[in-house]
Amino acid sequence: MFKKILIANRGEIALRVVRACREMGIQSVAVHSTADSDAMHVRMADESVCIGPPSSTQSYLSIPNIISACEITGAEAIHPGYGFLSENANFVQIVEDHDLKFIGPTAQHIRIMGDKITAKDTMKNLGVPCVPGSDGGVPTVEEARRIAGDMGYPVIVKATAGGGGRGMKVAKSAADIDVAFSTARSESKAAFGNDEVYIEKYLTLPRHIEVQVFGDGKGNAVHLGERDCSLQRRHQKVFEEAPSPAIDAETRARIGKTCADAVAEIGYAGAGTIEFLYENGEFYFIEMNTRLQVEHPVTEAVFGVDLVREQIRVAAGLPLSFKQEDLVVKGHAIECRINAEKLPNFQPSPGKIAQYHAPGGLGVRMDSHLYDGYTIPPYYDSLIGKLIVFGRDRPEALARLNRALGELIVDGIHTTTPLFHQLLAEPDVQSGNYTIHWLEKWLEKQGG
Ligand code: ADP
Repeated sequence: MFKKILIANRGEIALRVVRACREMGIQSVAVHSTADSDAMHVRMADESVCIGPPSSTQSYLSIPNIISACEITGAEAIHPGYGFLSENANFVQIVEDHDLKFIGPTAQHIRIMGDKITAKDTMKNLGVPCVPGSDGGVPTVEEARRIAGDMGYPVIVKATAGGGGRGMKVAKSAADIDVAFSTARSESKAAFGNDEVYIEKYLTLPRHIEVQVFGDGKGNAVHLGERDCSLQRRHQKVFEEAPSPAIDAETRARIGKTCADAVAEIGYAGAGTIEFLYENGEFYFIEMNTRLQVEHPVTEAVFGVDLVREQIRVAAGLPLSFKQEDLVVKGHAIECRINAEKLPNFQPSPGKIAQYHAPGGLGVRMDSHLYDGYTIPPYYDSLIGKLIVFGRDRPEALARLNRALGELIVDGIHTTTPLFHQLLAEPDVQSGNYTIHWLEKWLEKQGG
């Protein structure tokens, strides 16, 4: 087992990894920008190294600085968290070239899944059902018109290198395709430095359901059921739950096995998420994330496992600590992503926290890096905490969430907490009757 791990991230996820390290008796090294000198992950880790100025490109994304921090501290492995360098195959290659261990899959698997066209081809060949769409990239607008016309509208034009909901445009009819094609291309060029796009059938009433998989890198893999992440704003998840209110045990076992078999076949190592849209009882693969997800705690809650510990174990060459038959859904979990944003328009609201009080009690987990007097810097993601609740069933989880939200105090800045109070009062949220468009429509109705 590793003696020392460097965490190439910040915020709540850096803390999450520090906690797993501590429970495993592993020393942790935090890295931070000058804007994060007072951050909780720096305070909680065993050691810390400043890796640059506030700008992420010069700190959390600076590969030479992170490798140097490993060399200075003698860390043997790097946990990337999510975002930043977590899905950067080039980074993984450099880490390995320096005889360090990347806690995650191989550079090759990250590369395959990072290119959405290759990912779809790979999954299709492994027997995973995909959204109907173009065979590969669509180079010209003429081609886009022809493919969309043959497939039938609506369609969605998506960036091959996409992520974070960027570089995606919907064309409702032939009148929209030229603009959708050119905007998706230019957005993709600006965000990812690559303007290749592809076309998919646009599903009008799907849910977003994703399957958590775990491989040992030696051809064995399990699945840990699904998460329903349909409540989204601008293609970004806001509220996640496990299990999905739309899936029964038989369906879970079937799609789970398809996913576990697929990743076992390619010898995948570590945690991964296979994302689907789910409509009329059918699953359609959209992408695979080759890292830990923000919403992983709902899976941890319902299965009673520690996914970060498992990532570290697999990276150290140990076998998976659970078998498929051990993985039984024990209840229901829900996560709310609390952001430092001002409603109703979700403008970023950084600043000093006058008072912070985390909810507690049975079945409540608050993953947050906040503390009294902490100043949230304006340079990074606005996620300030994840409130996760677990109950024996969905009604109990909903009641617990309502109770826990009422206990949360974050004074001094604006947060998205009131949004969740409102959502919990909605009959559709109470019954689990929503699709990926539900939240946007609801926000429009509120005039946001
Ligand atoms: P990203 O990598 O940018 O997150 P994804 O491919 O995972 O992009 O898609 C993000 C979200 O965009 C999905 O959860 C869904 O809401 C929407 N979306 C993507 N593809 C489609 C599609 N073919 N039909 C309808 N909605 C889609």
